[in-house]
Amino acid sequence: MDSVGKSIHGAKYECLLFDMDDTLYPMSTGLNLACRKNIEGFMLQHLHMEGAEVPRLCLELYKEYGTTMAGLKALGYEFDNDEFHAYVHGRLPYEVLKPDPALRNLLLSLPQKRKIIFTNADKAHTAQVLSRLGLEDCFEGIICFETLNPPLEPVADCNDVLDHGDTVLAGGASQANATGLSLTDGRSFSSKSRVLCKPSLEAIKAAIRTANIDPNKTIFFDDSVRNIASGKAAGLHTVIVGSSTLVPGADHALRSIHNIKEALPEIWEGEGGQIVQVIQPSAVATVILA
Ligand SMILES: [Mg+2]
Repeated sequence: MDSVGKSIHGAKYECLLFDMDDTLYPMSTGLNLACRKNIEGFMLQHLHMEGAEVPRLCLELYKEYGTTMAGLKALGYEFDNDEFHAYVHGRLPYEVLKPDPALRNLLLSLPQKRKIIFTNADKAHTAQVLSRLGLEDCFEGIICFETLNPPLEPVADCNDVLDHGDTVLAGGASQANATGLSLTDGRSFSSKSRVLCKPSLEAIKAAIRTANIDPNKTIFFDDSVRNIASGKAAGLHTVIVGSSTLVPGADHALRSIHNIKEALPEIWEGEGGQIVQVIQPSAVATVILA
């Protein structure tokens, strides 16, 4: 164990931060498109928006604000966050996501203990996707919608634990304070008017604080060009996923997350070029058996 500690100490990267949707699985699954269709349905049925305008607005708000939901709130629409998530994710064809043992082995072989999901999605969707991919126990924690946008009323399960042991990192009132959001009566900020999510720089800085990570020693994987640009502005090392060419703010480009080892062998290396992975087999075997 001592040798493992010495090898990781001084390594270039101490933490890996992963977006989930369209990063840990390809956009070609169609889940993204199905999700957008459901959001359009919500805009039509619950917000009674003009039908011809909905598809264009849905996409524009997604691009501008990171999620269509954040854009709708910014435009002044008021609706219950949980109701929205239940409508949009409740009928998704999750069966298109299959277990990915190759990615699972890749993630488990990483020498960094700190591997964290950073997604704009809600907790239920995140748990469903990770479970379908067979990756539910590959991460130390999850920063999701609820982390950065805690309910108005304080709840007991802010440090909630998902079924498979992944911890949803707590944001809460102290997080809202840290991000400079206004608090009233000591409560969290109102989620009715504002959603904190990528690509806002504020959201990325909040995630860095919540996870208590050093951005200079953290590498951030995301399929969104805007998220990558904000990640770079926050001081993270960045990898655009799903693209074979660099985009502004990206340090690396990966066609698929499965290419991580070929494209970024330094993640497996400690300072001085020592390969950390060679002293990991017992740890990996333990995890697989568990
Ligand atoms: Mg994504």
